[in-house]
Amino acid sequence: MDAIEVNNLTFSYDSETDVLKDISLRIPKGSYTTIIGHNGSGKSTIAKVLIGLLEPQAGTVKILGRELNEENLYDLRSHIGIVFQNPDNQFIGSTVADDIAFGLENRQVPQEDMQAIIEESAAKVGMNDYLNAEPTNLSGGQKQRVAIAGILAVKPDVIVFDESTSMLDPQGKASINKQIRELNKNKDRTIISITHDMDEVAQSEYVIVLENGQVMMEGTPQEIFAHQDELEKMGLALPFALKISNRLKDMGVLDHGLLSLDEVVNSLCQ
Ligand code: ADP
Repeated sequence: MDAIEVNNLTFSYDSETDVLKDISLRIPKGSYTTIIGHNGSGKSTIAKVLIGLLEPQAGTVKILGRELNEENLYDLRSHIGIVFQNPDNQFIGSTVADDIAFGLENRQVPQEDMQAIIEESAAKVGMNDYLNAEPTNLSGGQKQRVAIAGILAVKPDVIVFDESTSMLDPQGKASINKQIRELNKNKDRTIISITHDMDEVAQSEYVIVLENGQVMMEGTPQEIFAHQDELEKMGLALPFALKISNRLKDMGVLDHGLLSLDEVVNSLCQ
């Protein structure tokens, strides 16, 4: 079964220009899928359609095999969660702890278990010293961490990250990306990450490339990165490790391109 199945989806904000144009795609259950594309290609819009925040003009969305419609919207929402790019749109609680608690309360997690889950989730994103802070007083990066802690606490079956580490420094990003991979470790949870970070794309299993409201390419990172010229035309670069290893391949030092710097270093040290 697919985590997400989208068939002939069309969406427009103003009924004049279609922002998503007859899109069909499948996201395998348990996969770590990345969605990439130029700014304005429709990535955030499709994320909002997938979680039922925007209603498409045509087409269907299935989540874990069930078609999303008005009747089952709330039920299906308990299986899919999103962390938005701009965390200001997401805060509900008056303290960080309240905010993380919100999703747990919605899912009827027993009160006596809540505090431990809140502390554990905040610790995973390095925000355990801020549980009594007001979310509005935090920096952009700290807000993103809290929003991610909220999702780590409830762990829905399908999680959409919409550029949710864009305000973090490289170290913070790496640590959150590690948490994201951890969520997907047992392959029972599906991660969909909208990202500009090509090194993150290299670490994912399935990639969907959107361009001008359409799916331009989909496949494994290796398959996608083989289309370097098309990616460049869309303003998308190759991951750093692949650029280096391709150069080393041209020099006869390596015999194929590699997707992570660790692999490059290991190959050179052999
Ligand atoms: P991406 O996430 O790939 O940058 P978006 O999904 O945010 O792209 O935007 C796709 C298109 O829809 C853009 O042309 C954008 O201007 C337009 N758009 C996005 N949000 C709205 C909105 N709330 N109202 C009208 N147009 C919008």
